Amino acid sequence: WLVWCGGLVSDGERGPANGVSIRTIEEERYRIVDEASGRVIEEVEASKAFWEVYPGAVYLNQARTYLCTSLDVESRTARVRLADVKYFTGTVDATTVTLVQHGAQRHAYPDRPGPAHRRPQFPGTTAQCAECEIRVAFSAYHKIWQGTGRVFDTVSLNLPDVAYKTRAAWIRVPDAARRECEDSGLDFRAGVHAATHAMINALPLFLMVNQSDVGAECDDPQRGHYKPTRILIFDRQPGGVGIAERAAPVFPRLLRAAMELIEECRDCAHRGGGAGVAKGTGPEGVGSRGRSEAD
Ligand SMILES: [Zn+2]
Ligand SMILES: [Zn+2]
Repeated sequence: WLVWCGGLVSDGERGPANGVSIRTIEEERYRIVDEASGRVIEEVEASKAFWEVYPGAVYLNQARTYLCTSLDVESRTARVRLADVKYFTGTVDATTVTLVQHGAQRHAYPDRPGPAHRRPQFPGTTAQCAECEIRVAFSAYHKIWQGTGRVFDTVSLNLPDVAYKTRAAWIRVPDAARRECEDSGLDFRAGVHAATHAMINALPLFLMVNQSDVGAECDDPQRGHYKPTRILIFDRQPGGVGIAERAAPVFPRLLRAAMELIEECRDCAHRGGGAGVAKGTGPEGVGSRGRSEAD
């Protein structure tokens, strides 16, 4: 089962304007139906539906709280009913990013910076931009108390993967940075992960984008297999609306801005610096649309 709606129409220059994404791709939609009235409350793009509705999900619409009672993937219909609950829900999901290059699909091993065997794609940065396939696997959902934000239950989920093609921009983190982290006793992989989210937080300073329109490649040490460490962001809209194209050339500036955000944060309530920025205000916190962290 694949949510892939072909027909890439990219507009690298303009992209989202006035905070409204230009929807260039006709995507299939899920209908969210109020069980009591039979009325369609909302239609959600297939690539985003499973963050909103699945059996057991608390679904919010215009200040009303609903509980999702069923989800029919075949007919793309979710049924919900008004509910009085004191918790919200967030999915536990894992996103795999596979870069697609030269028509062949493979896990990408970005070129090492340094040896000049390949010319950089953009002047002044080793950042690259390419088509990618996003695959999201949903394993469970959390129930989280509204008051405390504490997870009090985790329920397994059986949903098809969501897969679609879009555009990614990334930079490989040099080995020197890894060594520096190790020498200072810092967790390198966690740092790269936090830096990715901090960079997404910095994006609106440079581009007209909504943070929720941008996804992060989240490193998952649980998955074991070695991956070249990179800071990678992708356009959440299937086909892309030009975010990756515009982010890649300004990657160095984005990284510097992300670092400034983290440094400003050092003395505030977000103890833990970068990780605090990432998890506190990022688009991927539990309960918001997008990937939620299992930890
Ligand atoms: Zn993450
Ligand atoms: Zn802070």
